[in-house]
Amino acid sequence: MEHDYDYLIIGGGMAGDAAARAIRDAEPAARIGLVGAEGDPPYKRPPLSKGLWKGDETPASIDLDTAAHATLHLGRRVRRLDRAARRAGDDRGDGYRYRRLLLATGATPRRLPFDGDGRVIHFRTLADYRRLRDQAVAGTHVAVVGGGFIGSELAAALCGAGCRVSLVFPGASIGSGRYPSALAAFLDDYYRARGVEVLAGAKVVDGRAGEAGVELTLSDGRRLPVDTVVAGLGVTPDLALAEQAGLVVGDGVEVDAQLRTSDPAIWAAGDLAAFFNPALGRRLRVEHEDAAVGMGAHAGRCMAGAEEAYATLPYFYSDLFDLGYEAVGLLDARLQTVEDWSEPHRKGVVYYLDAGRVRGVLLWNVWGQVDAARALIAEPGPFVADALRGRIPHDG
Ligand code: NAP
Repeated sequence: MEHDYDYLIIGGGMAGDAAARAIRDAEPAARIGLVGAEGDPPYKRPPLSKGLWKGDETPASIDLDTAAHATLHLGRRVRRLDRAARRAGDDRGDGYRYRRLLLATGATPRRLPFDGDGRVIHFRTLADYRRLRDQAVAGTHVAVVGGGFIGSELAAALCGAGCRVSLVFPGASIGSGRYPSALAAFLDDYYRARGVEVLAGAKVVDGRAGEAGVELTLSDGRRLPVDTVVAGLGVTPDLALAEQAGLVVGDGVEVDAQLRTSDPAIWAAGDLAAFFNPALGRRLRVEHEDAAVGMGAHAGRCMAGAEEAYATLPYFYSDLFDLGYEAVGLLDARLQTVEDWSEPHRKGVVYYLDAGRVRGVLLWNVWGQVDAARALIAEPGPFVADALRGRIPHDG
């Protein structure tokens, strides 16, 4: 079947939804189509590892109601883009003509080198959440592989669901590489005190499914028999379509200030888009909700004719049991870190400094200061460590 749209959005995540809304706002009569690989219509992704486990959200409450703004074509992947004909073709033989196109195909989880007879969940989607929820009944022993965002959030969520949790990751501590080492070590203790078996410094090298579950083999030779395995090993941006179409691609699909790709009829937003951020003076690709929503909306407005520049530095946030934070910029523990605690490891601000400039700010149980952090990152400095302490107040 052939479809004909003014605006075609490829990707059914939060960026795609935000773009559909922005286009609908700017051009109420526009014909907008959205093609998404998942069977579920677009939904809020952060609750998959947070609010859905706490009972703050339900699968119904996270639905974004994108169908009110665009015609949805779900469970389909666009496999080919013909830029000259302005036509996309999907894996079921349908074609979509467009005037303007948004690439918002996101990213794909990295996988373990085995799938334990299909029992390993590489956690990314609402369907993955449903599978994990079905399996993770109270008393179940779950191996959470990966100590990044998904691993740390799911380990806490699964404990809350009454599961026995073993958290396995190759780094020295939870979030090492991201947080200063003392804070990362504190987190390991914090998780252990709440019942999580923290297995740092170990990779999972094999997994065999048996009748009772999956037996994992760790890089140090240890065996870990568990009922269920869920992994968050990071993601790789879905660039195949952009590459096939011959768009300029580096670490991601390269976009200009209006989030337009090297083809003037195609925009890109979300996990796969590499945009220039003026405050940091470099291209960035950000795999977080605020970037997906903000860039999606921005791209939608620009597709409908706006000329504004995307100059936002996206923020991100996480919940780790009853600790929480917001953060902006580069959280890279290799940078000089300046820690300013009003209560050690419970409440404070960490500044990430590079050659006298603030490149990242971690607001640890400090709220309402994201814009102050953004402003600081935009300031030319130079800053010295002592001058930064107290710069951002801990109580707004
Ligand atoms: P992530 O935060 O990049 O963490 C990946 C983790 O996997 C790291 O601990 C990494 O260890 C580990 N790892 C890599 N290869 C491994 C292997 N073979 N065996 C065991 N561990 C391995 O990515 P994520 O947690 O998977 O999250 C996926 C995406 O969702 C990211 O884009 C993330 O930003 C996003 N997300 C964001 C939030 C939020 O903003 N709060 C929440 C959930 C998900 P090393 O670092 O030591 O290599």
